[in-house]
Amino acid sequence: MRARVATAWLGGCSGCHMSFLDLDERLLDLARRMDLVYSPIVDSKEFPDGVDVALVEGAVANEDHVALARRIRERTRVLVAFGDCAVTGNVTAIRNALGGALPVLERAYCDPADLHAGIPAEPGILPRLLDRVLPLHQVVRVDVWLPGCPPSADVIGEALEALLAGRAPDLAGKVRFG
Ligand code: SF4
Repeated sequence: MRARVATAWLGGCSGCHMSFLDLDERLLDLARRMDLVYSPIVDSKEFPDGVDVALVEGAVANEDHVALARRIRERTRVLVAFGDCAVTGNVTAIRNALGGALPVLERAYCDPADLHAGIPAEPGILPRLLDRVLPLHQVVRVDVWLPGCPPSADVIGEALEALLAGRAPDLAGKVRFG
């Protein structure tokens, strides 16, 4: 039976997905054995039921990320923290040093001359930021850790091969942070 595989993008730069695409012709071989049922690189809007393996890139930085991470967990058998941002928070969590969501919004979106007037409310346009960026395992249970910024295509390929064969990937000595 063909495996149902998904990839998702939370608070990350898409570099981990770029590394996934670096599998190049190996993607053709994988495509014979799996269906990519949800991903930023396919036209799917809703995370489906019955996913065998989900690679989740990025840290959890806003309320939409929390909701998607929980939906993925409910509907996925093997959830992979895909890349350093998912594993530790990494680059996305640098903003934690500012101490909360408000100073981040002020720094990013407000004209300094308007700061005294507060943050303009735009309900429904931007998801509400969390005060702290969280690694994925602090929001949902994670089954497999795939560090790297980004993980190399070789490591992604080896992990997928193992997971499609029903094995836990043995990546000892093959992965590193950064
Ligand atoms: S781990 Fe690195 S490449 Fe992947 S989303 Fe984070 S910053 Fe980008």
